[in-house]
Amino acid sequence: MGARPLLNRRLDGLGTTIFAEMSALATATGSINLGQGFPDTDGPEEVREAAVRALREGRGNQYPPGPGVPELRTAISAHQRRRYGLDYDPDTEVLVTAGATEAIAAALLALLEPGDEVVALEPFYDSYSACIAMAGAVRVPLTLRAPDFRPDLDRLRSLVTPRTRLLLLNSPHNPTGLVLSPDELTAIAELAVERDLLVVTDEVYEHLVFEGAHHPIAALPGMRERTVSISSAGKTFSFTGWKVGWVTGTPELVAAVRTAKQYLTYVSAGPFQYAVAEALALPDSYFDGFRADLLHKRDLLADGLAAAGFRVFRPGGTYFVTTDITPLGEQDGIEFCRSLPERCGVVAIPNAVFYDDVDAGRPLVRFTFCKRVDVLEDAVDRLTRLRPVDRTSRTS
Ligand SMILES: *Cc1c(COP(=O)(O)O)cnc(C)c1O
Repeated sequence: MGARPLLNRRLDGLGTTIFAEMSALATATGSINLGQGFPDTDGPEEVREAAVRALREGRGNQYPPGPGVPELRTAISAHQRRRYGLDYDPDTEVLVTAGATEAIAAALLALLEPGDEVVALEPFYDSYSACIAMAGAVRVPLTLRAPDFRPDLDRLRSLVTPRTRLLLLNSPHNPTGLVLSPDELTAIAELAVERDLLVVTDEVYEHLVFEGAHHPIAALPGMRERTVSISSAGKTFSFTGWKVGWVTGTPELVAAVRTAKQYLTYVSAGPFQYAVAEALALPDSYFDGFRADLLHKRDLLADGLAAAGFRVFRPGGTYFVTTDITPLGEQDGIEFCRSLPERCGVVAIPNAVFYDDVDAGRPLVRFTFCKRVDVLEDAVDRLTRLRPVDRTSRTS
């Protein structure tokens, strides 16, 4: 095939995701996988049954409508109104996608010209870099740093140039657990309005905010007309395999995203769309119970990691906790995560892979707590074996 590389230059360096490498390591070593963020128990039984019913009754077994089944679009619209007071017309302002992943890809492919700059919070969720690259655009990181990972808003302002087209936000933020505060969201919104920027906001952890409430940036003044909001059923209802996500925005923005989306998957997850429509209409007690369960697990894992000698950055949202391994006498998260399964039978993810600024992420390691309590307890037990031996207390 000659000297030309097969993989095009836009995808250079995007080999295999870290999740594939670490999950394979987990399987090979029989380790507890606290790397990839998927729950080890399914979501509500009635939602699972709703999918079975739809499948048996022949709803969604053939291509559903391009924008998504009307029942789900109506349920998404009702959810945005009930939770946030946001009004979206189910027919023109809501689009169902193959998970948030496709929504992100379609939004970026639709809205970016080659050479456009995208300012995004780093560490980035891994698909952001890939999609910005596939769109031929340029990513400009706003680096979030330990210990609190708050965005430097003056720095953000200085990163915006005449080539900046779009701000790509994620709150609650994976992997740091940062939840943007109302003041931060207001400052970001004012900048977007002033510089006439589009905003794409990934809010898949909207129901996992542990203190206070989730505030969608689309609700702020001047933002509705420039914001593509993205969410998904995977995290909120513990059905990550169903891949039902959605976009809300103005008719113009949704039509643009749909133009790209129709040539990616066209449609997906027919019967599951009906089930997710029912899930979104669950009473507040479901959402409150889900958050309370994960809050308990957050504290279980965070306390356990601290007792095991990690420096722990307790997250305000998501189901991930980021730690610093330097108190354990370790420096490099990637090396640490490669050796961890062998050393104690636990798999984690090095945050460095989500940073362009590798120094900012080097000693940071992410663990997920969306697992059963007994699994988390076992993991904590295994991790305490890492503690440097205290030689002064030896008796023999
Ligand atoms: C899990 C995750 C996604 C992907 O959501 P799907 O609905 O499974 O495609 C997108 N963004 C973030 C930040 C995530 O953690």
